[in-house]
Amino acid sequence: MVENDFDTALHEREGIEQPAQVNPYLQKRKRRELSVDEYVDGILRGDRVILSRAITLTESLNPEHQKMAQDVIERCLPHSGKSLRIGITGVPGVGKSTFIEAFGSHITSVGKKLAVLAIDPSSERSKGSILGDKTRMEQLSTDPNAFIRPSPSGLTLGGVARKTRETAILCEAAGFDVIIIETVGVGQSETVVKSMVDFFLLLMLAGAGDELQGIKRGIMEMADGLVINKADGDNVHPAELAKTRYQSALHLFPKNENGWSVPVATCSAIEHTSIDKVWEMITDFEQHTRSNGFFEKNRNEQNVKIFYDWIDFTIKNNFFNNPDVAKKIEELLPKVLEGNITPYQAGNAVVDEEKGC
Ligand code: GDP
Repeated sequence: MVENDFDTALHEREGIEQPAQVNPYLQKRKRRELSVDEYVDGILRGDRVILSRAITLTESLNPEHQKMAQDVIERCLPHSGKSLRIGITGVPGVGKSTFIEAFGSHITSVGKKLAVLAIDPSSERSKGSILGDKTRMEQLSTDPNAFIRPSPSGLTLGGVARKTRETAILCEAAGFDVIIIETVGVGQSETVVKSMVDFFLLLMLAGAGDELQGIKRGIMEMADGLVINKADGDNVHPAELAKTRYQSALHLFPKNENGWSVPVATCSAIEHTSIDKVWEMITDFEQHTRSNGFFEKNRNEQNVKIFYDWIDFTIKNNFFNNPDVAKKIEELLPKVLEGNITPYQAGNAVVDEEKGC
């Protein structure tokens, strides 16, 4: 039998020769753990490797890592908040990744550093994720002024949102000027993204029946700007028609508190046309809301919401992790199922258990 001086994942059976490892130098080296100081210094220096490791730390379920991650975030917080945060949504196939690739390159070409994060609730439900695969945004991922991080997986939407907020803080502390948070237009994740960005962009398509996408789900009401993508080739005219129709539809919505009239633009992500107009739209919005105080007000309101959400989360988390509560639930659940106790009585008994009654 061949003596191996490196680890192998192959099961070793007596008498059977182990095949040679293709590249023994590819063994997993255990990385040295970093201290909180090293994380913070690295992030503030803009070191992407350390930034990535810090994000991974925030996503770890290990309580020690969690504690450390919270310390890192706390220390990065005073250096955060300076970026422009843009949310981008649209149904699958609308061209989000193609658009972000083109739009992102435009942003870096005007001298800004860009981070692209994703909120993809599909990675919670199934193993597959709509947004997270590595082949997306290939060009942007090689841009030295862009940083792309897929959605954290295996968490509830609330959990994904929390981690994405933390990631945004770390990216801001690392000096990123613009943060794009992308989500798929298939559910509640838009509301979550809206609650953490300064500008919310809805990508749409022109075409049969498409004019109503987003309107039904109320997403259009959340948008600060609408962009009709794929305005190229034979689709230029339909895109212009759709633009007019959306503009009329938007007139029916109540006026925004911030005094901003939601603009509609067309672009072609694939041909890179009018991408600069979208950037202009967003910088106009920033200027408008900064000068009338709504930029700051929106962020303050978002913080108040996070504050309450966090209280809500912590209380529930502590409650359900209380062993007495868990025991009581286990005891009463069969009775609820069998109809031997009302759900209200059982619920009260569980709550009383936590209070120690
Ligand atoms: P996502 O699912 O929203 O991220 O959409 P993708 O970026 O993956 O694009 C879906 C399909 O639409 C791909 O085949 C793209 O090549 C195509 N696509 C994206 N943007 C444009 C565009 O501006 N014009 C045209 N003609 N096709 C586009």
